[in-house]
Amino acid sequence: MDRTQQLQRLTDAELDFLIIGGGASGAGALLDAATRGYKVGLVDRQDFMSGTSSRSTKLVHGGVRYLEQAVKTLDWSMLQLVHEALRERQTMINMAPHLAQPISMVTPLKSRWQWPYLRTGLGMYDALAGKRSIGKTTTISEAQLQASCPALKQNFPIAVKYWDGQFDDARFGIAMLRTAVNKGGLALNHCNILSIKRNQHGYRVSLQERFSEKKFALQCKGIINCTGPWTDEIREQVRPDRHGIMKTSGGAHIVVSPKRVPLQHAVLIPKTEDGRVLFMIPWYQQILIGTTDTLDPLSDNPQASDDDIKYLISEANKWLQQPINEKDVLATFKGLRPLLDDLSSSTAKISRDHQILVEDRMLTLTGGKWTTWRSMAEDALNQAAKMVDLPAMPCITDTLKLVGATDPNTAPIPDIDTDISNHLRQRYGSEAELVLQAGSHKRLFEHYPWIEAEFAWAMEKEAAVTPEDILERRLRMNTVDSKAYMEALNILS
Ligand SMILES: Cc1cc2nc3c(=O)[nH]c(=O)nc-3n(C[C@H](O)[C@H](O)[C@H](O)COP(=O)(O)OP(=O)(O)OC[C@H]3O[C@@H](n4cnc5c(N)ncnc54)[C@H](O)[C@@H]3O)c2cc1C
Repeated sequence: MDRTQQLQRLTDAELDFLIIGGGASGAGALLDAATRGYKVGLVDRQDFMSGTSSRSTKLVHGGVRYLEQAVKTLDWSMLQLVHEALRERQTMINMAPHLAQPISMVTPLKSRWQWPYLRTGLGMYDALAGKRSIGKTTTISEAQLQASCPALKQNFPIAVKYWDGQFDDARFGIAMLRTAVNKGGLALNHCNILSIKRNQHGYRVSLQERFSEKKFALQCKGIINCTGPWTDEIREQVRPDRHGIMKTSGGAHIVVSPKRVPLQHAVLIPKTEDGRVLFMIPWYQQILIGTTDTLDPLSDNPQASDDDIKYLISEANKWLQQPINEKDVLATFKGLRPLLDDLSSSTAKISRDHQILVEDRMLTLTGGKWTTWRSMAEDALNQAAKMVDLPAMPCITDTLKLVGATDPNTAPIPDIDTDISNHLRQRYGSEAELVLQAGSHKRLFEHYPWIEAEFAWAMEKEAAVTPEDILERRLRMNTVDSKAYMEALNILS
């Protein structure tokens, strides 16, 4: 993705749709529109995936928790949502198997009496996945649990093991954008919108690229607003009299070493004492522990607070054999859930479903979750085509492969260390060899597999501009080890 070329092609472009926001929703809409053959461009005022979409728990999931809520409240629409997400889980794994894979999840049970309840629930979860199931729910014994998850306390007579998916959220999103650009879509990060003016053909939009400060304009028939937590800002920029529809709920994670929390499976604690879900998930070299769920103000770079960190440590310690403390925290990250405001006071109960709002040739796509980006985009583009009177074109994203799509277990790359080979294959898939050709194979840190060539690749092929773009959303360094991240940031800045 050559930024100079993208800027040139967006200048004075006449588009069917301009998508604002390059997170999961915007990238999904771009990929859907480009593969249907529409003329489409996307801009983000920051880096692609710098909002919520790089700060998720990184699960590709149907939502076991929503299934429980659906059954308890006999909510048919929520059940359909779980069914849809389970279908999309398999689609994402097929689309980029190097970036999204099945992960085994374990829930330890304090009493054998809890098993029939969970068995019924997870049996339903498996049944809803149907032929797209990625593994059957089973029980594991006390001894098996102790062997596979020695981090946990040893007083669980039984545990239940089920399957969900896991992915690299930011890299998946960037692969979606690159695939869309290969199909004729346009995408530019670090590009501010100066004004949006309604005219008889749709909208005239004035923009400015952040680094060159080049100002330009384009014409589009319709706008697709995918700005997540910032949804209301764009709606109000077009029409200041519009009412806000969004609330934001903050979700923090802490990252610890598997030496301190050794786990072979991800652990799901369905209910903490205050009714939240707690995850402990192996991800790349570390263990992610999350998440909080609190109403938080809008912020471009939300950070886990001391209270968030204390809360996560204290909840995790209720389940851990060897308690962890602040010194064990290698990194933290926090994202804002874009939630539709239904005037409920508890964020856990606000709908996680997506919503589409059509207002005067501007379609707002918001809510939902990462896992359902594809069906959200399909729904949005069906409605967007009607909004601007374009012929309906079929959606083809459910059989698409993203750039680099390959089995991560394909043959190791010869003549480099095994950990570097695995690292490159998992992140770049079939493009791993090309990454090696982009620069030096020297390690950035002795004990991590990042290599220098990844910097050049991130800038040349993945539209990274700033050190943060490279380190946070291409190399994912801040999510693995904040000390290493700060060191690398100092070198690059
Ligand atoms: C803590 C947490 C954990 C989660 N875990 C999971 C999970 O495990 N699995 C799952 O499926 N879902 C999960 N989700 C939900 C999922 O991450 C979100 O639903 C999804 O990322 C939202 O994507 P988005 O594109 O709508 O918003 P964002 O990713 O926030 O993207 C919005 C983009 O718009 C841009 N933008 C804003 N204003 C402007 C403007 N004026 N001009 C141009 N660009 C603009 C921003 O820079 C940003 O890049 C989680 C969410 C949170 C917060």
